[in-house]
Amino acid sequence: MGMQPRFADAQHALREVFGYESFRGFQAEVIEHVTAGGDAVVLMPTGGGKSLCYQIPALLRPGAGVVISPLIALMQDQVDALAQVGLRAAFLNSTQDWAEQRAVERQFEAGELDLLYLAPERLATAGTQELLSRGEIALFAIDEAHCVSQWGHDFRPDYLGLAVLAQLWPDVPRVALTATATAATHAEIRERLRLERARDFTASFDRPNIQYRIEPRTGSAQLVRFIKNEHPGQAGIVYCLTRAGTEKLAQLLCEHGIPALPYHAGLDAATRRETQARFLREDGLTVVATIAFGMGIDKPDVRFVAHVDLPKSVEGYYQETGRAGRDGEPATAWMSYGLSDVVQQRSLIASSAGSDAHKRLQQRHLDAMLALCETVECRRANLLAYFGEKIGPCGNCDTCLRPPEVYDGTEAAQKLLSTIVRLDRERNQRFGAGQLIDILRGRATAKTQQWRHETLRTWGIGAEFNDAQWRDVVRQLLARGDLTLAEHNTLACTDGSWEVMRGQREVLLRADVVLRSASVSRPAAKKSQGEQLPPGATGLFERLRAWRAEAAKAASVPPYVVFHDSVLRTVAVERPVSQAELARISGVGAAKLQRYGEQVLEIVAAEDR
Ligand code: ADP
Ligand code: ZN
Repeated sequence: MGMQPRFADAQHALREVFGYESFRGFQAEVIEHVTAGGDAVVLMPTGGGKSLCYQIPALLRPGAGVVISPLIALMQDQVDALAQVGLRAAFLNSTQDWAEQRAVERQFEAGELDLLYLAPERLATAGTQELLSRGEIALFAIDEAHCVSQWGHDFRPDYLGLAVLAQLWPDVPRVALTATATAATHAEIRERLRLERARDFTASFDRPNIQYRIEPRTGSAQLVRFIKNEHPGQAGIVYCLTRAGTEKLAQLLCEHGIPALPYHAGLDAATRRETQARFLREDGLTVVATIAFGMGIDKPDVRFVAHVDLPKSVEGYYQETGRAGRDGEPATAWMSYGLSDVVQQRSLIASSAGSDAHKRLQQRHLDAMLALCETVECRRANLLAYFGEKIGPCGNCDTCLRPPEVYDGTEAAQKLLSTIVRLDRERNQRFGAGQLIDILRGRATAKTQQWRHETLRTWGIGAEFNDAQWRDVVRQLLARGDLTLAEHNTLACTDGSWEVMRGQREVLLRADVVLRSASVSRPAAKKSQGEQLPPGATGLFERLRAWRAEAAKAASVPPYVVFHDSVLRTVAVERPVSQAELARISGVGAAKLQRYGEQVLEIVAAEDR
């Protein structure tokens, strides 16, 4: 006990271990506070740099930093990446046999670990608590701390048990970290983890390198076009609502020459592990997944996240899109969305088993999501407002780049709503969007004839719009709450409908369909990483990448764990000729310099010969 910490100061550890020049945001302040023994709650967006906030204090305090993480499947990767920068890290979980576990326990007891990763359920056992009391603990880091929130989207009951840390180890500092940041989640973290006295560190949640775009759905070819035009050969995640949806879409992408794999909770554990491993290790694989995929996956070079179904909450959406571009390079968050999403989600909520309070909560989540989809203002400003942050127009979202045309849809809305009212009042009937559109357009079908709808006063009064335009009107009225869904997905009026019909309120709608048919130009495709290089450096960059692929394979880690693209790019441009020059490049720490320095310098030198 009472061993000396490995590093004397934070700056030194940052430079020596991680090869970085300066801290980002408030990293330095968190590190100082926790190293001095204080508790902290750290809210930072994905890619913000949370890990250093506990990894460096763990090096500056005696003993091992104990990291609580819900993601057993990723512990091996995390520990391997730390070994690459020369840290002594290990994990204890159910995938290990008794001898492996015993070996890790001995290392911990002997003070030979910098970091020890544990799953929350393990911490609840008496055996683990006894083990921890036999060694020295530098700090507790509670990762993905929003999992303690019972109303959140990732609730894990085992997280509630973490309150015990405050009792058992009152003198060990605790730091809770998350990328989910509504005020409600924040309050729950403080309360349930007994972090009442912790200092708060809340970063801006803006991720300026991610371009946010939401488009009206036209079909599955839309996604293929998006990937082919803007992110060919790059890694991405496509989120779907259903398991069957992920499989179908992955197959479609493959048929169009885009390497893709499905991922959902219904696949067996081995297949899921394999897919995750391939996603991390290969360049340019797309995973088509349910929300079961992604938490804790630290792949920094995911270039796009696409949603082909409407997410259930803005919180979940923001976290999912945040998995793009953690390396700070340009990335895209793209969504396609349509009337069927609104209908599907509203009826899912209505038929769900939860309490009324829970349904109201889900309804509020959905309303916020719909408001984001239908906004005519900056997407990012809308998103950040949800997290309590105010910004001006961002210049890097679809509505900023190509302001949507808005038209006065009051008359169209009145035509639709009065048709609904007439059917209801005069005939005691309710119908879905399809039949109503047939009536408005005056299109005779077997079903309109059966119900004698051609005798309605509103028959054919909406001939000026086509089907797609009417569906846009229905969708937007539903999203605004000026229309609602009744039994069997039929449409019914609300208080808002009456205000519209009485002309008390104007209905401004996005002219999505009008714009779509006019084939306006899309935002310019971002350049791939190689294209950002000066012409002379591309060849060297590609050779360095080929070398990195081999080195990563030999060490069985993902390529970005050896060096990020940004490091290889800098090497290709600056062409260092000595270890000292190489060491000055951001991202090259002492361990990596020793392990890879000679090989990299050799490749650069071979270029010049
Ligand atoms: P988070 O856990 O918040 O999503 P990470 O801790 O994984 O983020 O960090 C995101 C990326 O930023 C990582 O590749 C990390 O190495 C890098 N990074 C973190 N802090 C710094 C820093 N001070 N300087 C340069 N790069 C950093
Ligand atoms: Zn914007």
